[in-house]
Order: sequence, then structure tokens, then C-alpha cells
Amino acid sequence: MPVREQARRVAEEAKGFLAVAEGMRLYELSLEGSAWAPCLEIGSYCGKSTVYLGEGCRETGRHPLFTVDHHRGSEEQQPGQAYFDPALYSAELGGTNTLPWLLRNLRRAGLEDWVIPIISESTRLGRFWSPGGLGLLFIDGGHSEEDVLGDYRTWAHQVIRGGYLCVHDVFPDPRDGGQAPYHLVLHARSTGAWEYLGAEESLVVLRRR
Ligand code: MG
Repeated sequence: MPVREQARRVAEEAKGFLAVAEGMRLYELSLEGSAWAPCLEIGSYCGKSTVYLGEGCRETGRHPLFTVDHHRGSEEQQPGQAYFDPALYSAELGGTNTLPWLLRNLRRAGLEDWVIPIISESTRLGRFWSPGGLGLLFIDGGHSEEDVLGDYRTWAHQVIRGGYLCVHDVFPDPRDGGQAPYHLVLHARSTGAWEYLGAEESLVVLRRR
């Protein structure tokens, strides 16, 4: 099933760090995962991956995508840091604010009925979330060891049997990028609870046994 032209264009134009092939893999997985239970994305940023995941939910027509982010950007995205983007700066808030970009992209992609944005730290949200099962979990929030492990510990057990755990920015070679997501994948695999389904560029896909 191809992604609608409207959604594909918005996803490709959206600010963010996700290859088209990775986005298409997320789309395909969310077609399946959202048939069983809601999907959850940790790290909405400006909505690039959100559009691919939300499009799968819309297509299947069963369960929505929840996407959680504090929307203040990561440490490297603050003024004066390496990945600061002046277009994301809010003078009123005195820092980065990615929420308007997410909302704009969801509207342009026609996905407001299928994507439910939540403004929060993901672990804080998890403390108040009643377990109901997730068909797909995408971990792409803070990339420190603490953040990545916190997201996994808070949310991974909610993935239903047969459901998907996707982790972005997995770089086995430290020369390619930070190691926390890679360490998380090693840890998850060591538990025996997950079947490794392979990687699409830096996107690793696991399935709950
Ligand atoms: Mg990422």
C-alpha cells in the first residue's frame, strides 16, 4: 500500500533526521501494529516520522498513534549548540519549541484525526498511563543512556505479543554516532523477549515473542 502523495510530500519536506526508507518501514509496521492496538512514538520533534506512522494508522483505520515530546528540543538543539535551528526558536519561550511545526505538518498531511500529540517527558507520562497494550513502540527521544533506558523501562513492557519495538539511530560503530540506542538494542535482545527482525539503515526492528 503506497503512502498518499499528500502525506509523503509533507514527510519529506518536514525538518528531521530520518531517511525515506526508514520512514517507509515505519509506515509498513504501523499498518500492522495499529490494527491490534494503539502505537506510541517517543520523540515527535517536527513530525517527520510521525507522519509515516500516523499514515499507517489512518490507512488501517483501527487505532491511533500517540506521540509524546516535551518539544523543547534536545541539548544539542539549544541556542549556541551544534544542532541549533533558528527557525525553531521561540523568543516568547526563550528557547526551542518544535510543537508548532508538528501541528502544522499533521494538519497539512491530513492526519489530525489519527495522531494524538502529548506534550510531556515520556517517563512522566508513563507514570500516569494505564497499561492497555501497544501495537508498536518507536523510541527516538533523548539519546543519552539514561533517556533511552528510561524510555525502554517505562514503555517496552506495554508492547503486546507480536507487537513491534522500533529503535532509531542505532549505530554499532561509534564513529557513526552515539551508542545509547545500540546499547539498548543489545540489552533488549539479551532479555530473550524480542525477536530481531533486522535494520533499515539506523532503524532496528524487534518483535515481542
Ligand atoms: Mg532519530
